[in-house]
Amino acid sequence: MNTPSRLSLLLLAALSAGPNAHAFGRAQSLGPIQAESAVPKDQLGLLRQDFAWLGTLQDEPPTQEFREVLGLESAAPADLLSWLSSRVRYMVAEDFKPSLLNIRPYIFKKFEFPKTEMPDLEFPPEAENIPLIDPNSLPEGSPEGAEEPESGGKVVMANLGSALYLGGKMADMLLGIKLRGIGRIPVTSPRVGIIQIGEGLFDDGLFGKEIPNDSPIRRTFRMSTFFHEARHSDGNGKTLGFMHALCPRGHDYENTNACDRNINGPYSVGALMDEHIARACSECTEVERETIRLFGLESRSRIIPSRDGSAPNAWNAAPEGQFPPRK
Ligand SMILES: [Zn+2]
Repeated sequence: MNTPSRLSLLLLAALSAGPNAHAFGRAQSLGPIQAESAVPKDQLGLLRQDFAWLGTLQDEPPTQEFREVLGLESAAPADLLSWLSSRVRYMVAEDFKPSLLNIRPYIFKKFEFPKTEMPDLEFPPEAENIPLIDPNSLPEGSPEGAEEPESGGKVVMANLGSALYLGGKMADMLLGIKLRGIGRIPVTSPRVGIIQIGEGLFDDGLFGKEIPNDSPIRRTFRMSTFFHEARHSDGNGKTLGFMHALCPRGHDYENTNACDRNINGPYSVGALMDEHIARACSECTEVERETIRLFGLESRSRIIPSRDGSAPNAWNAAPEGQFPPRK
């Protein structure tokens, strides 16, 4: 699928959207993560609360699977946040529209992409023109499934950095992304860590007003979505970006790019976070705990066999490229 012609199409599609507003203003911070000036303050405020809320969870030892998949010996809040912030360093607002004004190749900067294999990209057969950084619209109504832009146009969360790195690697061009209030960042690795967040992460669409934004259910949804996206910053060669696979026939998400052919990818990471929080949340009611466990199960239902039909295994998560970025 990843032939050069297809690629240039993808890049062109990604670069052809219009310019955007809010060109000025200062960077904001979310702990160690820098956010564009255009990221709404109320969104950052809620995420700050979510991080603090992780600190209120009981000190519960993580399962063996959690330790193996995340490579963490403890699930203490400081360890979780350091896992996250080594994979997410920049946060982009929902209204960021990729264009030649804000995504451009560096002409004079020397950068050699590793000569490694490329990941297998799976696209639905009918989709001929999916822009690389707007991977797919996923069905509504499913928390974990909605982390990438929805069909209604509402962004939940997307890892722009890994898509731009992959696009750059395929075209052998180092791309730079201009972030408002921050400056231009060379995408020398998915670990440069550039995540877009949007209204879909915060609005009542998925849960309804009965479940308020500060409930453990919605805090868990935001945090495990965040950890899911962070996993897309890992991997190398074939496993670069832990790209999703097409869900098979008969699956709830048949023919959408919303499954993993591995046991340590974004959906596993999200499920492990859900399961950990369900165990460690002492303020949760039994119903909330059960709901959070269901998120985990739903996420696990997206883990499917390898392409040759064999059971999925753990992918190499070592990151590719150069990071942290140097301006
Ligand atoms: Zn994903």
